[in-house]
Amino acid sequence: MLDILLHNARIVFPGDGVVPGAVGVKDGRIAALLAPGETEAAAEVIDCAEQFLMPGLIDPHTHFGFGSNDTDFRTESRSAALGGVTMAFTFHRSPDLRESTGPWRDRGNAQSCIDFAFHYGLTSQLHVETLKECAESFGVNSFKFYLMYKGEAGAAKGFTEIDDALLFSTMQQVARIKGGVLGAHCENVEVIRALRPPVKAAGRDDLKAWDDQSPDYLEAENVFRVGYFADKAECRANIVHLSSREGLEVTDYLRSKPRSAPLHVETCTHYLFMTTDWPSPVGKVNPPVRGQRDVDALWQAVADGRIETVGSDHVPRKRATKGPDIWTATAGFPGIATVLPILITEGYHRRRVPIERIAAVTSANVARQYNVPNKGRIAPGMDADLVLVDPDCERVVDPATLESFSDYSPYEGRTLKGWPTGTWVRGRRIVADGTVLADVADTPGGRFVPRWGDLSTRPAN
Ligand SMILES: [Zn+2]
Repeated sequence: MLDILLHNARIVFPGDGVVPGAVGVKDGRIAALLAPGETEAAAEVIDCAEQFLMPGLIDPHTHFGFGSNDTDFRTESRSAALGGVTMAFTFHRSPDLRESTGPWRDRGNAQSCIDFAFHYGLTSQLHVETLKECAESFGVNSFKFYLMYKGEAGAAKGFTEIDDALLFSTMQQVARIKGGVLGAHCENVEVIRALRPPVKAAGRDDLKAWDDQSPDYLEAENVFRVGYFADKAECRANIVHLSSREGLEVTDYLRSKPRSAPLHVETCTHYLFMTTDWPSPVGKVNPPVRGQRDVDALWQAVADGRIETVGSDHVPRKRATKGPDIWTATAGFPGIATVLPILITEGYHRRRVPIERIAAVTSANVARQYNVPNKGRIAPGMDADLVLVDPDCERVVDPATLESFSDYSPYEGRTLKGWPTGTWVRGRRIVADGTVLADVADTPGGRFVPRWGDLSTRPAN
């Protein structure tokens, strides 16, 4: 007998299609896929009312700990669950990863209601030297390098070792890790020093000013450097949070050549939705949001498969840090709860992007790229991480209902069409009708996911 039968659903198979039917769950795993009319006994039967039943989202890009280090796993995992996210990757950075990883993982296991994994942020020679040891001890085989913390910009944050030598030796090390992949923040911070002063001196305080002080070609130049060196180092690399058409064109060029290892491309929800017309300084983020032609180009790449993954770059700080002007505001904003509503509103409804493609970039491709076992697809034996989605449900974004430590949303007041109505993590329902269920507070239940297993580098199409 099944634990749960979700019937009368439109089941979304990432990259593949949508099929009417039912999904059976037993012991936290998907146990059966049934055609319409077929049935099996279950302790709980749920009528999905022909809504989309998708694999739970796996957000590849979040910054838990940037709001409140003590409570972000609790609050941000709840916010994630409301948005249909059942697993999140969060960046972990510290002077010595050997010492900090265990306690950070334990905090997550105690507080998170969704499953989670880490990418290591690499900023020093010590990190490079201890990378293999940490990867093996903790099952972390994805990493990020911050080209925008070179020189003065890095020194202000306490990073003094970031240069191209460290980048290249990091690539050489990552290439030796089973399933290893190096993400890179691409923004030429040295040229920003030449471009920023006149923009600032002109007294500008709009998002176009933020774009002008770090324009698309500073991203594109770094994309080339990372992609080119990664090929020479035989390192699998990922251009994370790609923001511009110019940068995308460089990835097209790099991928047109034979490569020693794949080059992946990730973008974030805001680059598929926001432009420099958005309110400032709430919309300040690195890399900056761009123009409409960039948004259109990135959507084209999501639709045709060149962009393989979409993340939130969720930063759950308070609104008070977003001002008073664009030069002093913090960069980044919360977004984990609104990934799916934005992709459905802007992609599925407005641009006719198939729901199975949206599922691919938010679940199956993330799982494949980062070696996540048993997640990302709806198939027998997989974890029953599921989200039920009403594509026609319209709601105004209200940060007060999103449960984040953060108290604002860059999307607040906007009507989005397409919201989750239920979220299950390994067969346990944690969200119903836009509310996190009461028992989740006492027993969050999320788990750290170590990642090993076979490396498959071809995302679903
Ligand atoms: Zn970044």
